[in-house]
Amino acid sequence: MSELRCYGCGAKIQSEDPKRPGYLPAKAKQGKEQVLCQRCFKLLHYHTKIASPLTQDDFLKVISKIGDKDALVVYILDLFDFNASQIPGLMRHIGYNDVLVLANKRDLLPASLKEHRLMMWVRRQLKAEGLKPVDVIITSGKKNLNFDEIYEKIDAYRHGRDVYVVGTTNVGKSTFINGLLKHYVQVTTQITTSEFPGTTLDLIKIPFDETSSLYDTPGIMNNRQMTSRVDDKVLKLIMPQSEVKAMTYQLSDKQSLYIEGLARMDYIEGEKGSFTCFFSKRLKIHRTKLENADGLYNRHKTLAITLPEIQTIDQMKAYEFTFDGTKQDIVIAGLGFMSIKTKGKVVIRVPEGIDVIVREPLV
Ligand code: GDP
Repeated sequence: MSELRCYGCGAKIQSEDPKRPGYLPAKAKQGKEQVLCQRCFKLLHYHTKIASPLTQDDFLKVISKIGDKDALVVYILDLFDFNASQIPGLMRHIGYNDVLVLANKRDLLPASLKEHRLMMWVRRQLKAEGLKPVDVIITSGKKNLNFDEIYEKIDAYRHGRDVYVVGTTNVGKSTFINGLLKHYVQVTTQITTSEFPGTTLDLIKIPFDETSSLYDTPGIMNNRQMTSRVDDKVLKLIMPQSEVKAMTYQLSDKQSLYIEGLARMDYIEGEKGSFTCFFSKRLKIHRTKLENADGLYNRHKTLAITLPEIQTIDQMKAYEFTFDGTKQDIVIAGLGFMSIKTKGKVVIRVPEGIDVIVREPLV
């Protein structure tokens, strides 16, 4: 059997001495042809996950340093939570460097959604944010979707320059970097950290060649997403693992939908309308009469998931929206979205600080 080497640092894999290069516990390498040593694994995974939380200031410092370089920026966004995964003012911070957008987690959206339509939707959303990318690639880190196209385009658009990968927490940046590392295993055997001048932040550096590298920048949590408010157990329930199934409710006014105990939609007044929910399959949606809705919040624990700090529904914040009959999405950041076609008034209740926005329908 040929000797196993770490595809990060190139060290020979050994299970004897944790202090020496290439250490990996024996059971972690069983049956694998490609492995990372424990150190490279930690570098890659813990740098965003366990390192002390990054402040907005630190984050902007790193991002703004990119503005001093001539580089290609690979910007990863989460298609399931597109708006909340954006970095506000990104172009300004990165000095209008070229941006290649990777719209990730395609696998979570309905397979029936036409690629061209999705692409046009993404481009319009980006344009509304003032972003003019050199290109957009729809991808899924989980399914390796369009990875060859990504590698080709990174090479084509970087013109020999460095590449910086940016994205907020949870968009799938680590998953993507892992994929890249495996892809570039023939090209490079070196993964290192480098400190960004003026900050104490480690960046992961993956050299392309003698003169240029790819840098993984630290992610930042958007605390206006529900995903940032819940513990790990609930996080697993609210983050969909596979394609979200559209659940359509035909509602008359004075009816409500609870998304577990995390959010509520009240159809206050209007014609009969259609309300299609796109949330993780593991979240139960409860339909109730508006007049009974307050009382339901957590009587007899009907709603299995609530935030512990919210005892009664009136501690949630209410946002009112008026619909004129055209289909629109209401997005609850970090939870999911509802596609609404009706003429009438809707109130959305969410924990204070969670973003609720209306946008052009995605599906
Ligand atoms: P990071 O915080 O941006 O580095 O994101 P991670 O790579 O750690 O991914 C965050 C979560 O999203 C993890 O639970 C991943 O399994 C999941 N994830 C990453 N890419 C995809 C994808 O393409 N599809 C789906 N469904 N989940 C993904």
